[in-house]
Amino acid sequence: MTDTHHYFLLSVSQSTLNYIALGWIGLAVIIFPYLLKTISPYGRYADKYKGPMINNKLSWFFMEVPSFAVILWFFYNTPNLENKMVLTAYMLWIIHYFNRAFIFPLRLRTKKKKMPLSIMLSGAFFNIVNAWLNGYWLANFAPKTHTDLLDTPHYIIGVAVFIIGFIINQYHDTILIHLRKFNTGYKIPHGGLFKYVSCPNYLGEILEWVGFAILCWNLPALSFAIWTMANLIPRALNHHKWYKQKFEHYPESRKAIFPRLL
Ligand code: NDP
Repeated sequence: MTDTHHYFLLSVSQSTLNYIALGWIGLAVIIFPYLLKTISPYGRYADKYKGPMINNKLSWFFMEVPSFAVILWFFYNTPNLENKMVLTAYMLWIIHYFNRAFIFPLRLRTKKKKMPLSIMLSGAFFNIVNAWLNGYWLANFAPKTHTDLLDTPHYIIGVAVFIIGFIINQYHDTILIHLRKFNTGYKIPHGGLFKYVSCPNYLGEILEWVGFAILCWNLPALSFAIWTMANLIPRALNHHKWYKQKFEHYPESRKAIFPRLL
């Protein structure tokens, strides 16, 4: 290990980092069937939860801000920012998590809503692991120069998929948030990709992290994309089922998350 090694909490070699990322992927694969059978008790499912709760907006902030902070720490300790791929990856992550930690909670119109403390803590842990794995790789193991990566398919496709995903996520999160404008309850969402799926905001989020994995082309980014799918596909299936049970005239042709597929 060289003395230019930049770490946060733990110091590891590249192969150890890859083994940790593989273990993290393995855990997502193991947990996925369990998540398919359970419902994360936040949002529309929070009422049934009996344990300690915390204000919903504060919870989103505390859950997401660790990811922003950890990646920022690595960003300021990264020597190879002349590599445009590394700089771009940091920028995408920082923009996404600046929104999720600071802007998204303020935009929510969920008055007096609460979230289980356990969800907040497990979400924060999840975010720390993902930011640590990805920040560690970017700060220590990403190629040192490679500005020509700007012209490679990795770079162009990865950034394009991320940006498309970000726009889809933001657009449909905004539709959902605005549904609360005149009404405090739930409504059938319409517009954009809601024509095809019940949870286009989740589809956008998945595209973002798949794009990020294509851009970085490494195990830490792949592990985050897989975890995002493991979290959001089961939740989209639950939302879809919930909509069909709650609204008698819910559009028949709508799928849960992937148009025409699922
Ligand atoms: P939801 O779609 O469940 O809810 C988003 C917001 O819209 C909430 O305030 C919700 O209120 C409100 N809302 C949703 N549907 C309706 C409706 N039909 N009528 C009125 N209001 C509605 O998203 P999540 O809260 O699960 O996630 C928020 C964001 O976080 C998403 O962009 C998601 O992609 C991202 N996320 C990412 C994860 C990852 O692993 N990377 C994991 C989880 C979330 P209420 O809370 O009262 O239901």
